[in-house]
Amino acid sequence: MLQKTTSRESILKELEPYDARLIAVSKTKPVEDIMDLYEQGQRAFGENRVQEMVEKQEQLPGDIEWHLIGHLQRNKVKYIVPFVHMIESVDSPRLLKEINKRARGEERVIDCLLQFKIAEEETKYGFDLPAAKELLGSESFEKMEHVRICGLMGMATFTDDEDQVRQEFRRLKEIFDTLKAEFFPDRDSFREISMGMSGDYHIALEEGSTMVRIGTLLFGPREGH
Ligand SMILES: *Cc1c(COP(=O)(O)O)cnc(C)c1O
Repeated sequence: MLQKTTSRESILKELEPYDARLIAVSKTKPVEDIMDLYEQGQRAFGENRVQEMVEKQEQLPGDIEWHLIGHLQRNKVKYIVPFVHMIESVDSPRLLKEINKRARGEERVIDCLLQFKIAEEETKYGFDLPAAKELLGSESFEKMEHVRICGLMGMATFTDDEDQVRQEFRRLKEIFDTLKAEFFPDRDSFREISMGMSGDYHIALEEGSTMVRIGTLLFGPREGH
């Protein structure tokens, strides 16, 4: 368990050579903690629950970029579509379709990442390569003008085995390269690989991460998690 926190400044220094962005994962943490980081210049925050994100968004500055990073139920899409900056956890075609529909109603185009299953654990949500190819090659996807697929997101297995974690991140990068070549060769907007958390972001950066999602290291451990 990580107990000591690391400053935003020193994490940013580590990200710099990789040209990667920091998403501060503020789930379970109070708005005061978010404001502390906001005042240091942090704008991108990640939350995994719709209700919590909505409540915080209402109380905090309007220029915060909210990233949804947890499983999203279709019936809750409508609550975040007016303000969300990026939905990183798109894990099914049906969810993407619902986001597109709600975004049309708001006259928005919403940035999305496809979440991939790269971990060993069976319970994690997400696409595999054949399912993603089927979606991206489909006619119904072509008609979705209110979502923009900006890349992929994945979580490695929770293990001390660094080789395994590295293999899983490497696999996500390979999938990214495959999909980029086949479906987005001329689209600069398809460029994000969101991988790496407090315990494994160094490995993720070495394997090509463009966005790390860090909670515990910045805010301290979460209760009950
Ligand atoms: C909680 C969470 C994180 C951050 O985890 P830490 O280990 O606290 O850095 C990153 N990504 C997702 C999807 C999460 O749910």
